[in-house]
Amino acid sequence: MAAVLTLKPGKERSLARRHPWVYAGAVARVEGAPAKGETVQVRAADGHFCAWAAYSPDSLTRARAWSFTQADRIDAEWIEARLAEAIARRATLVRGTDAMRLVFGEADRLPGLVVDRYRDQLVVQFLAAGVEAWRDVIVGALPRLTGCRDLYERSDAAAREREGLPVREGTLAGQAPAAAIRIDEAGVRYAVDVLSGHKTGFYIDQRENRAMVAWYAAGRSVLNCFCYTGGFTIAALKAGAASAVSIDSSGPALDGARLNQKINGLDEADCEWVEASVFDALNRLVAEGRRFDLIVLDPPKFAPSSHHVDRAARAYKEINLKALRLLAPGGLLFTFSCSSAIGVDLFQKIVAGAVFDAGVEAQMIRRLQAGSDHPMMMTHPEGEYLKGLLLLRV
Ligand code: SAH
Repeated sequence: MAAVLTLKPGKERSLARRHPWVYAGAVARVEGAPAKGETVQVRAADGHFCAWAAYSPDSLTRARAWSFTQADRIDAEWIEARLAEAIARRATLVRGTDAMRLVFGEADRLPGLVVDRYRDQLVVQFLAAGVEAWRDVIVGALPRLTGCRDLYERSDAAAREREGLPVREGTLAGQAPAAAIRIDEAGVRYAVDVLSGHKTGFYIDQRENRAMVAWYAAGRSVLNCFCYTGGFTIAALKAGAASAVSIDSSGPALDGARLNQKINGLDEADCEWVEASVFDALNRLVAEGRRFDLIVLDPPKFAPSSHHVDRAARAYKEINLKALRLLAPGGLLFTFSCSSAIGVDLFQKIVAGAVFDAGVEAQMIRRLQAGSDHPMMMTHPEGEYLKGLLLLRV
């Protein structure tokens, strides 16, 4: 008999709409002393079945639903079937690259699990108690399902801390990863450092936006703010951009960017890598009266939670305002926010405010989002984090 988690009256509504999270405040009682990560049956106050979920006693998200079907049995076979489906879906969604997200948590009905593939290297993150409890099954299945023998763990420390799980990194199967794994994305090569790079090594989620930048880049002067290892810069230059100035405050990130420049055979004279705060650098460029034909703003998450929204909104506004002042007429601005706490509507309002304050006119050409291997389950809007706008200064 599975342990039972009974909800307070009315708290079954979000689960009935297939939202996968049970917050601590919604729980009336837990019977059967489930261990961390164990599957519990979630019941409404009147006792009817709501979901099978992974119990997470130390987290504010007290349980995460695996399934809303009472007949399901959450066992190794079930977990493997979800992995196999997620991996098979990517084959239809992603083309022309050997780097992709194979499993993306809630969107693939495996809450808290991330699996990225860089060529033949897999990088995995166990970010919730449920997938942690199935770690051995997952580690055993992934090489078989993908044909990749090498599996490395890069579980994000902050997320694991919220789950009461110890920080973990290291080789789980096969060989230790190479220091720089060479991936090929639409003919552009990037060196990925899965040991110490951001996320699992690279911003895979920006792939389709890199393609969009490349689409418009020919002949343009580019400014790439928060460039990290130069993803957008290299894509633009390979597509014929005239020149690029790229700014990041991290020296190691810029070393990675220079390596990417080199392995793509790009001319050093065309790329200027600037180690500085973007806030200061934008002020300087404005003061110098500089102009660019294509600007990318892809900052770190300014709002880590809903408590930080006001301050974050001011920071987004400021960089967008400065960037718009640097944008030549006919120029394009690719502007992003990866803060889940800032929704699409709010982000658009912030950028519209910046357009107004900059005293320019701009058209919205497109909305942008994470690549198709980073989907969002329609019943789980929190899964939407990366949003962007493509503006044209008229
Ligand atoms: N656009 C990148 C990802 C950006 S991640 C890509 O597509 O790969 C955010 C980057 O911002 C990090 O590389 C971090 O070093 C840098 N960063 C954070 N705060 C900064 C600041 N105030 N000024 C400049 N860079 C900053």
